[in-house]
Amino acid sequence: MIFASSNQHKKIERAGHAIRQGELVIFPTETVYGIGAAAHNPAAVAKLYAAKNRPQFNPLIVHCASKDAAFSLVKTTKLAQQLADAFWPGPMSIVLTSIKNSPICSLARAGLDSVALRVPANPICQELLQCAGMPVVAPSANPSGRLSPTDVAHLDSALMAKCAEVIDAGKCEAGIESTIIDARNKIPVILRPGPITHSQIEDYLGTKCVYASSVSSPTSPTSIAPMAPIAPGQLASHYAPIAPLRMNATRKQEGEIFIGFNTPHADFHLTKTGNLEEAAAHLFDMLHLADKQNPLAIAVAPIPNIGVGEAINERLERAAAPRN
Ligand code: AMP
Ligand code: MG
Repeated sequence: MIFASSNQHKKIERAGHAIRQGELVIFPTETVYGIGAAAHNPAAVAKLYAAKNRPQFNPLIVHCASKDAAFSLVKTTKLAQQLADAFWPGPMSIVLTSIKNSPICSLARAGLDSVALRVPANPICQELLQCAGMPVVAPSANPSGRLSPTDVAHLDSALMAKCAEVIDAGKCEAGIESTIIDARNKIPVILRPGPITHSQIEDYLGTKCVYASSVSSPTSPTSIAPMAPIAPGQLASHYAPIAPLRMNATRKQEGEIFIGFNTPHADFHLTKTGNLEEAAAHLFDMLHLADKQNPLAIAVAPIPNIGVGEAINERLERAAAPRN
């Protein structure tokens, strides 16, 4: 991770100003690069949906500089307080019931009475949120349905052209999108697996998590009916490269690029040592790289469905899902 230089500080200040002016800005977080807009400004949020070509029924995550700023927007619960104390700032988004007359525009919430909140840890992102001085909605900085960027080299030039600033801070640490937890009730509901794993959450809380039924559960956690609308994978195809993707591949077929997990004969490697965090951090990078070769398909070796492997497999399933 790159810390801000004095030029970078000026850029971040300009970006904060641009957000206040209703412009779009691309910035790093510890998960993936985000494209941000002022959360209270419906025109800015509409511009964001349009720039990404994102369906307006898919609500956005609201990024705040602190837990207090975030919780001033919602009715908090004991569970949410515990999760925030343990995992914020960090790669976890928490869904709660919005306060009435919320400053977050209803377009950002896709008209729901709930809102997803996150306090990110990345220092550049933190500084940007301070400079903006307001909550910022930020989905991943890619055209809707495509791979998330974990490096500025992955950014789509047409999307960049719609932004007032692009802040480059090298590669994102975690490399996959935040874990999303519905904390409106007593039991944590995983809406999207991510860098913070269900066992980390369970170990901390001493309570079992359940999975929303749209999320395939890795072990045997109970699934419950999702509270609409849930995480992006509800649109079955998501996080997709251009080339078709084949999971659990043990060997490369004609015309394929093979992405390995501890697999010596692969073209690209998520990890050569079986380290799942390393594999998560490399996932989108390797998919971008493989896609650039215009293969007939991208084959990915089996990923152990434990720890953050669960989030990697969830992303791969979406990428492999039939396209519209
Ligand atoms: P992303 O697409 O990575 O920006 O993540 C945003 C995801 O968070 C969306 O796909 C939503 O489904 C989920 N999300 C945001 N707000 C809410 C909410 N109020 N209730 C449930 N899920 C939400
Ligand atoms: Mg996204």
